[in-house]
Amino acid sequence: MAQSFWIGMAPLRCDLCKTDIVDEFIDGGTRHGPWGFMCPTCHQVHGVGLGMGRGQRYRREAEGEITCTAAEATAFRGEPSPEVRAVRRFVKVEG
Ligand SMILES: [Zn+2]
Repeated sequence: MAQSFWIGMAPLRCDLCKTDIVDEFIDGGTRHGPWGFMCPTCHQVHGVGLGMGRGQRYRREAEGEITCTAAEATAFRGEPSPEVRAVRRFVKVEG
């Protein structure tokens, strides 16, 4: 099965509790409507599950972080970044 990767500017904090995201996050819907990046704890409380139309779970790869330049960061998200930033590479986790 093909793996899909999240190589962009991965979220640094949970949108709900503002906790730093370290190894795992969920990009998914909430019971309150809007989508966001959630830590696993918030996803359990506020999320609507995993799967198509509900949410995707990502886990950080073992090799850790990738450093990218500001230019690359801009390409990822369309947002200019004034500094070189470390980018975490996450791999999508099924289910
Ligand atoms: Zn959270």
